[in-house]
Amino acid sequence: MGRRFEVQAINDEILDAMSLENRYNFVNNNLRSVLTPDQFSFFNEVQRFCKRFEKKNDITHGPEEDVYDWVPEFGKKGYISRFHDYSKIGLDNLQPYGAVADFLRSLAIDLFDTQFAMGAGATVLATNPLWEHHENIPVRLEALRDMLTGKSCGAILITEPERGSDATHMLTTCEEQPDGSFILNGTKIFSTNAPKSDWVVAYATSEANNSNTMAQFLINTNWEGIDVQRVGIPWVPKLYLGKEELVNLRVPKEYVLGGPGRGKAHLFEGLIPERIGIAMVSISQCWGAITLATIYANMREQMGKKILIWQGVGFPLTDYWSKTTNLTLALLKFCELYDEKIEKFGEELPNIIRQTMVASASQLKYHITNLSKEICYECGNLMGGAGVCDNTAMHDYMNISRIQEVIGGTSQIQQYIMSMSLRTLYKMSVL
Ligand SMILES: Cc1cc2nc3c(=O)[nH]c(=O)nc-3n(C[C@H](O)[C@H](O)[C@H](O)COP(=O)(O)OP(=O)(O)OC[C@H]3O[C@@H](n4cnc5c(N)ncnc54)[C@H](O)[C@@H]3O)c2cc1C
Repeated sequence: MGRRFEVQAINDEILDAMSLENRYNFVNNNLRSVLTPDQFSFFNEVQRFCKRFEKKNDITHGPEEDVYDWVPEFGKKGYISRFHDYSKIGLDNLQPYGAVADFLRSLAIDLFDTQFAMGAGATVLATNPLWEHHENIPVRLEALRDMLTGKSCGAILITEPERGSDATHMLTTCEEQPDGSFILNGTKIFSTNAPKSDWVVAYATSEANNSNTMAQFLINTNWEGIDVQRVGIPWVPKLYLGKEELVNLRVPKEYVLGGPGRGKAHLFEGLIPERIGIAMVSISQCWGAITLATIYANMREQMGKKILIWQGVGFPLTDYWSKTTNLTLALLKFCELYDEKIEKFGEELPNIIRQTMVASASQLKYHITNLSKEICYECGNLMGGAGVCDNTAMHDYMNISRIQEVIGGTSQIQQYIMSMSLRTLYKMSVL
């Protein structure tokens, strides 16, 4: 494998020990007794693909590489999403499926390349509404298959320049035409992948600021009336985020996933997978950082000893490791429960279960994104200069972990949602 940097700061022996193979081995040895044989076997299958892919294409993860070039091959293997049973739309090779399978897919891919994994995660967000609302309409199925098989990335357009956390009071408008099509006008922003995507799913409203009139649309970015520009996010320099101007954009009837009045429910049904997806990449970033720091601390010597032996290094590392292990178990348990409920009730979960899972998803997203920000930063520090130079993926982890708190609803918004859940629980409990 080539190397990601021009000037080498870390010695050969340590850099070689930080190979993808060894990093996978470390995480495998942590999770071997936690995963079932089937789960472990799928986790290893994705790892084998990533290792071969990295070797075959001489991938260095250096700044000149375009992670979007990798999408088609991962798509062909069915590694974009495993959340649902896609055999129902003719994609038979996407097995196993479910939240647990998607977690393991995400973890293996994030350890391979964290920015690439985040981009794939954003495509998944665009596939979920199509999965729920394709109604066997050919253009919708085509878009869904394109994204799941890596022919195109996908993006979700919720946020607007003036409406971020207050996402349900949109300003982008949609006006119904006599033939059932809609004309959209407005501006969207921070849409991960949009400049690289043929397909996006966007929300608009027939009356600005009225959440009860929100609607949801599938849009092809090659249509006239949508202009996509790239917004720079320096902490994820390889990802393309979009700012989209919609000017008299006509959306034909068959691309209307939910007309005015249905958009809010469609937005809310996507929240559990979205927040769990962010929790998955964030816990994966924790594993990536701990793995690098553990290998380094076991090999690097100062003052005559491995730095792991110095309590200033070894003890905080155990603190991050135990928190990461515990939250991995919590997330895995949530995913298992989610899969059980979907198996039992279908996609439409009973309200009480849904409410509890929305609160749990917020708890996990809140807790894990906060943890990854701390762990990635501190693990970098534990490695000294090696942790902040460009020789390893540690700087990717430090940077990307910093933004997970903002996306999918900021930490403050998760706290707001959780406080409302506490109010509901109080009313249910105190008679
Ligand atoms: C890297 C990245 C990727 C993203 N990807 C997507 C995407 O794919 N699709 C998409 O639609 N959007 C995406 N977003 C947008 C993201 O969801 C928003 O940035 C986020 O919801 C916050 O909105 P905002 O930036 O407008 O901040 P604001 O809503 O203006 O918030 C500013 C500050 O005020 C706080 N705040 C706001 N309201 C309250 C309140 N009621 N109580 C307490 N605190 C409050 C916030 O927590 C924050 O600290 C992405 C953003 C980033 C940075």
